[in-house]
Amino acid sequence: MAKKTIRDINLTGKRCFVRVDFNVPLDEKDGHMVITDDTRIKETLPTIRALIEAGARLILASHLGRPKGQRDPKQSLRPVAMRLAEMIGRPVDFADDCIGAEAKAKALALQNGGVLLLENVRYHAGEEKNDPALARAMADLAEVYVNDAFGSAHRAHSSTAGVAALMPAVSGLLMEKELTYLHDELQNPARPFLVILGGAKVSDKIQAIDALLDKADVILIGGGMAYTFRLALGHAIGNSLCEPDKADTARAALDKARAKGVKLLLPADNYIVQEMDFAAKTVGPGKYTNPGEDIPDGWEGVDIGPETIRQYAAEIAAAKTIVWNGPMGVFEIKDCAKGTFAIAAAVAANSAATTIIGGGDSVKAVKKAGVADKVTFISTGGGASLELLEGTVLPGVAALNDK
Ligand code: AMP
Repeated sequence: MAKKTIRDINLTGKRCFVRVDFNVPLDEKDGHMVITDDTRIKETLPTIRALIEAGARLILASHLGRPKGQRDPKQSLRPVAMRLAEMIGRPVDFADDCIGAEAKAKALALQNGGVLLLENVRYHAGEEKNDPALARAMADLAEVYVNDAFGSAHRAHSSTAGVAALMPAVSGLLMEKELTYLHDELQNPARPFLVILGGAKVSDKIQAIDALLDKADVILIGGGMAYTFRLALGHAIGNSLCEPDKADTARAALDKARAKGVKLLLPADNYIVQEMDFAAKTVGPGKYTNPGEDIPDGWEGVDIGPETIRQYAAEIAAAKTIVWNGPMGVFEIKDCAKGTFAIAAAVAANSAATTIIGGGDSVKAVKKAGVADKVTFISTGGGASLELLEGTVLPGVAALNDK
């Protein structure tokens, strides 16, 4: 996707409105909000450092949590300003509101290489409605728009799309990397191109399956959505997660795969249990079905079995491009996580392939499996990465200037 980046324009002395994803997890300790994981800040440091080196004046903006248009002090970005200052080794000024007189004065006071962080854009109800007045007020602070918040690019909000339309708009380095791996590389992938899709529901992934059936050579299905496919093929699935009203859709996908010569594989065997307490992260005693065997009444499938792992790992080893989105089972519970971790290991072991982890739970699984440094690219955006795989044009990307 040939979008202009911060390398394509002269930013020296320019006030840049930089939309980042500082939506970090916070925890209350001794009356203060403390950042428990600063990965999202780290991800955007290359862009921030490059802008500082270019002599730009940085006005950073982000959402945090879901304050729904209210000023909730527990969802303030103030702790992020302090952490960021430590990380970049220079002062980070903070404005209590993302628009208005204080923000304007502080933006105008910035020197070349200076950094200002604005308060949570979602303190304004207009943000999520892409309110033009809010976009105009934010645009009033800056001369150039930079978007490095890939994880928010699938939403047309004031700070992701509205502001971008009002001034020259380019992508940051993280955004550029995400688009390279999740879009550009997949236009002409090295083959075999294999996609692993898991997670809870067929309805969440069917658009991606449909779009990928036009591109992929092999699609491996796992997770809860596999059971709607099993049902569509006339198998008994016990109490497994299922969307009976999506059985026709699943059948249509199987038909399309056959017509297109795409190898679409379903789990041959499953780990099944009679009781699961998701909140307590426990399951009752479980067992594996035999390959091809149906799931008996009173039991539910919670992971793929050893024969499926063997088959999927063989496909993964032969692929040249691999995209993975969604876990193979209820991986949050230890007894149901073996399949997901085995797939993570298989993907990581194929060092000859370009391996792309498409956000959300698959990223957690790859990290938990300790193989994050062995894959080519890990996306920072779950929803956004899935929408890109579906072939959707993301509003936050569409708003950026073409090269
Ligand atoms: P998604 O957000 O669609 O990628 O789905 C991720 C969720 O799917 C995780 O919370 C998993 O626990 C859940 N999941 C995966 N496999 C199953 C399954 N067999 N039954 C119920 N939930 C599952």
